[in-house]
Amino acid sequence: MNLKSIENIVSLSKRRGFIFQSSEIYGGLGSTWDYGPLGVEMKRKIKNHWWHEMVTSRDNIVGMDAAILMHPNVWEASGHVSNFHDPMVDCKNCNARYRADHVNLDKPCTRCGIKDWTEPRQFNLMFKTSIGPVVDSGEIAYLRPETAQGIFVNYANVQTTSRQKLPFGIAQLGKAFRNEITTGNFLFRTREFEQMEMEFFVHPDDTGKWLEYWSNERLNWFKSLGVSEDKLRLRPHGDDELAHYSSACYDIEYEFPFGWSELEGIADRGTFDLDQHNEHSGKKQQYFDPQTNSRYVPAVVEASAGVDRAFLTCLVDAYTEEEVRGEKRTVLKLSPKIAPITCAVFPLVKKDGQPEKAQKIVKDIRKEFSAFFDMGGSIGKRYRRQDEAGTPFGITVDHDTMEDDTVTLRNRDTMEQIRIPAESVVRALRDKIESLTER
Ligand code: ATP
Repeated sequence: MNLKSIENIVSLSKRRGFIFQSSEIYGGLGSTWDYGPLGVEMKRKIKNHWWHEMVTSRDNIVGMDAAILMHPNVWEASGHVSNFHDPMVDCKNCNARYRADHVNLDKPCTRCGIKDWTEPRQFNLMFKTSIGPVVDSGEIAYLRPETAQGIFVNYANVQTTSRQKLPFGIAQLGKAFRNEITTGNFLFRTREFEQMEMEFFVHPDDTGKWLEYWSNERLNWFKSLGVSEDKLRLRPHGDDELAHYSSACYDIEYEFPFGWSELEGIADRGTFDLDQHNEHSGKKQQYFDPQTNSRYVPAVVEASAGVDRAFLTCLVDAYTEEEVRGEKRTVLKLSPKIAPITCAVFPLVKKDGQPEKAQKIVKDIRKEFSAFFDMGGSIGKRYRRQDEAGTPFGITVDHDTMEDDTVTLRNRDTMEQIRIPAESVVRALRDKIESLTER
């Protein structure tokens, strides 16, 4: 797969209703994307899958949902007001602006070919706004640049009300905003995005072991979405890469057509955040250990992933162009766990009771899975549309169905077709999905 494939994926995403450019009829807003009917289903499935894996399937992690707007002191305490900067350089000749760590300052500007750089300057990535009707005298507010702080400031509320004992986690899913200078690569780096974050509170002596544990758990989660194992890796951060709050960190990376890039960071944040909030709010952020009868500030191991990057990874990994009987076939080989539509149902012809029979099957399937009814165009065209939508299964109702009550079940990837009784469609789908998604 090469960079051209990203263009093909962008165009398939639009053609099939996964992703549209934001405000397209006004010429679009740079690096901002809207999820269409298929995209929103797939994104929701990824989020639900994360929530189930991290919260509902575990005893020791609880969820929460904080407001996007928070007290401005939160961002003073977290270090984002003073530290959340990218050093930027401008080309004095053509005014192009780059992240200083993304260009070689000993070489000329790649845009105009002239070497005339400004000194690196700091640029804060937080979006600033003001609360109240009068802009000048209003209180400053920031759109949160990460969801994690909503968890830290609620640590005491959640711990006491949920009666969790250490080690335990708090998970949250929601929008975050960063005024990124260099955006691009489709959904990979945008200014508005969604995060899936889990902060795991542990005894300060235990962070090393939990960092290892969560790094592996999280890597396995990406594998469980069907992402190719040989394109995923866990990379420890070098000392020079660590964020201001972190003493050790792993990145989960995927090999995109534009190179290995981060999907999720798993970091040992130590007691940094709770210490900071302790100091800035004057409210104690501690844990009372009933076993030792002592109080201390818990340390944190964080797993922070981007929903949109997970989505892009699944799309890129699933995108396949192949030749079938001399014709090009484009197919998204998405796992049934996250495919927007699980099964499409097609009456072969628009008469003889076939549409009604197909609709009845759709109704049955929808009790458990998502289904889509389509009777427009030739059967070949209908299959191809669903291949591009990533629909793993197709059921065709034909003349024989009306005689012997059997239907054809087609597998998207192998294109194998088998005949099964109409009444066993849901059971057959259940079995096939189970065998395809064993993890
Ligand atoms: P990068 O170095 O790629 O900018 P980061 O190290 O700043 O990322 P974190 O602050 O660790 O990112 O954020 C955690 C996760 O949130 C990232 O792994 C990524 O999946 C997601 N994320 C961060 N920034 C963006 C963005 N601008 N667009 C989309 N997703 C993002």
